[in-house]
Amino acid sequence: KEWCRSIPKIELHAHLNGCIRDSTLLELAKELGQKGDIIFSDVEHVIMKYGRSLTECFQLFDLFHILATDHETISRITKEVVEDFAAENVVYLELRTTPKNNIAKGMSKQSYLKAVVDGLKAITSVDASFINFSGRAESFCKPLHKSGTNDIKRKKIYVRLLLSIDRRETTAAAMETVSLALEMKECGVVGIDLSGNPVVGEWSTFLPALMYAKEHGLPVTLHCGEIANRKEIQEMLDFSPERIGHACFLEEDDWERARLSKIPVEICLTSNLRTERLSSIDVHHFGNLYKAQHPLVICTDDTGLFSTNLSNEYYLAAATFGLDKKDLFYLSTNAVEFIFADDGVKKVLREIFQDAESRLA
Ligand code: 5GP
Repeated sequence: KEWCRSIPKIELHAHLNGCIRDSTLLELAKELGQKGDIIFSDVEHVIMKYGRSLTECFQLFDLFHILATDHETISRITKEVVEDFAAENVVYLELRTTPKNNIAKGMSKQSYLKAVVDGLKAITSVDASFINFSGRAESFCKPLHKSGTNDIKRKKIYVRLLLSIDRRETTAAAMETVSLALEMKECGVVGIDLSGNPVVGEWSTFLPALMYAKEHGLPVTLHCGEIANRKEIQEMLDFSPERIGHACFLEEDDWERARLSKIPVEICLTSNLRTERLSSIDVHHFGNLYKAQHPLVICTDDTGLFSTNLSNEYYLAAATFGLDKKDLFYLSTNAVEFIFADDGVKKVLREIFQDAESRLA
């Protein structure tokens, strides 16, 4: 496990609110309990529960949304989540989050995103680089702290953002998210995600917004095949997203198409196991995909919700599917090819992996 921690890694599938530290979640719940907004003893049990069904996970997300609705809290959790990934030697993080309108809290999708960016700006314990390289960043995404390039002990992490469309949203709300992503490209927004409860919503509702992203060159990743919805899986493959996440319920014909188009798959082992999408980890589709040399990237999904981290996921893949250190290092290095950030970032990351490889040799 320590070795898995020591190597540089890339995280491409992590939801901000699913990665809140347990300690922060409990603290926020206590505060709201004291204010009388929630009954802490009810919530404590839900937060501490180990092993939740998919439905329970989405109930918990509703709770997260009550706990983390003000701008200050959003900034705080963003800062903490990035610091936690950096501590695991994640050198590039694509953090995804759903911009939320909340009139009662004076929050718009734009001000939510600004709070996320403020969280990135507030990071001091590691060097977080989050602005796209074009250098024309708006004043509100300028970093407060200069990168300490001479300090070799400080960890460096590149952070980029994906804006999620929640499956509960309308076409207009989804369009608003894509427009915001396009406006905020220079603050490190590099793509769009479709997530949220897979039993809710229709593909046709999101398609116009996803097409709009595609037309404007904004990459898209889709939560695909979390449940056995054959029609939707096929519609998603017709759309040709840049990546797909989970892909638990694809049938052989669907895999044939995914293989031909070489769509990279974001693999979330613990998440799939804990939400009961498979009977045991050794039957996870990672095994077949890995054997077929399909493009794959190991991810966490929700570190807080599933009490995991990226090193743990690498270790789990190795222990379950018999991967050695060389295989794991190759997997982590190869993930550079599937990131949504530009070639400048890819180049830097390739150098980081080459450097690590020579140190490990
Ligand atoms: P947020 O977007 O609020 O930062 O992160 C939490 C949200 O991510 C959840 O409310 C949910 O919409 C989405 N999410 C997190 N984990 C999963 C997952 O495993 N599957 C799906 N479909 N959505 C998820």
